[in-house]
Amino acid sequence: MAGWGCPHEINDVCSKISNLPCDPGMKGCVLAGRYVFGSETKNARLREKQAREATPAADEHNAADHP
Ligand code: SF4
Repeated sequence: MAGWGCPHEINDVCSKISNLPCDPGMKGCVLAGRYVFGSETKNARLREKQAREATPAADEHNAADHP
């Protein structure tokens, strides 16, 4: 991987995910859920997080209205 040095990458292999070839953003990658990737399949975690972050605000509002 060029440009950024992931501490888990050793010889193009990911030591974090079962020594699979490094594929930034894949499931289990430290980058998954933090950045938007060109492939929408890698954005699943990010989308889940965004959905969760949108929901609690509504819950807090409801809790304040209905103790
Ligand atoms: S897949 Fe992700 S965690 Fe693994 S080496 Fe690549 S950038 Fe690092």
